[in-house]
Amino acid sequence: DFKKTHGQHILRNPRVADTIIAKAGLKSTDTVLEVGPGTGNLTVKILERCKKLVAYEIDPRMIVEVYKRVQSTPVESKLQVIQGDVLKHAIPYFDICVANTPYQISSPLVFRLLAHRPMFRAAVLMFQREFAMRLIAKPGDPLYCRLSVNVQLLARVSHLMKVSRNNFRPPPKVESSVVRIEPRNPPPDISFEEWDGLLRLCFQRKHRMLRAIFTQKKVLKMLEEKRKTAKALSNGGVKQSVESIMRLGDSMNIDTDVAFQNAATMNEDLEMDPGAENGSADQMEVEFAPKRKGGKRKDGGIENPMKKQLEQVLDETDFATLRASQMTIDDFRKLLSALHLKGFRFS
Ligand code: SAM
Repeated sequence: DFKKTHGQHILRNPRVADTIIAKAGLKSTDTVLEVGPGTGNLTVKILERCKKLVAYEIDPRMIVEVYKRVQSTPVESKLQVIQGDVLKHAIPYFDICVANTPYQISSPLVFRLLAHRPMFRAAVLMFQREFAMRLIAKPGDPLYCRLSVNVQLLARVSHLMKVSRNNFRPPPKVESSVVRIEPRNPPPDISFEEWDGLLRLCFQRKHRMLRAIFTQKKVLKMLEEKRKTAKALSNGGVKQSVESIMRLGDSMNIDTDVAFQNAATMNEDLEMDPGAENGSADQMEVEFAPKRKGGKRKDGGIENPMKKQLEQVLDETDFATLRASQMTIDDFRKLLSALHLKGFRFS
């Protein structure tokens, strides 16, 4: 069933379509990318204002519809619709992207666009409201998450308008919003793999203090392994690839139909141990670890040198008592470089 699996909710309010087009700031010389033209309500309006429009549409019936609409009109020759999943194609050059996005591909689509080279000027995209709010969330906002940080690292994002579900046929279960995304050009000069490795760790429990996150035994163990591998490969330098940008969007997909009932689909927000806030990771381990012979800890109380180093970095940078939910992009950058200086690696 295409309707269900491909998020086919046709935008029926021409005023909303007009606003989207106006906000896109199209120039007559622009090549535009549209994702999921459906029956072409946005498509015909874009075509009036651009040089060329390339669209990806997964549903062949929709492609027939949209071509029918422009048949024997002056704009017909400007339109090229490619059949298939936009995520599985190498997208050609475009200046502007406009889309009433199929919501189930929101996150991978955003990062696919941001990984596109050469960079585009702007994207004006309709998303599920909650996803849009995550894109624009700032430190301290309830929806601030790894997605917010990764997108804002690579782009300026602004909220353009709210669109209620009644503007679509059939109406989706959730409300929508239109956002504008402008890639930062040039992109930040960091290794996205390292960056995202750190973020995944910090946002595992976004309300937990960094000290508690970093001193968990399993985290220390992981960092030790990563440091060893990095040494063996001596890959200290900055790696920057478009593939690594696309991976920034991994496991951040929200399922349209369940997201509002279950905001926890984004695994970094799972708060399974709210009590952890109050105790350090060590206390937690003592509490939950199975009793060992003699009731003593296996390490006999010997300090883990890695742990000491980590605590030192966190104290010196004043990040020990901060929580990911409050940290700015700049904070994460400072934390990453301080940890890199001490030889820690996250990818
Ligand atoms: N743009 C139209 C409008 O505003 O009325 C339709 C928008 S509808 C929300 C999403 C459209 O994207 C559908 O036509 C659907 O078939 C198409 N679609 C879904 N998944 C897709 C994918 N992975 N690649 C390309 N198109 C896709």
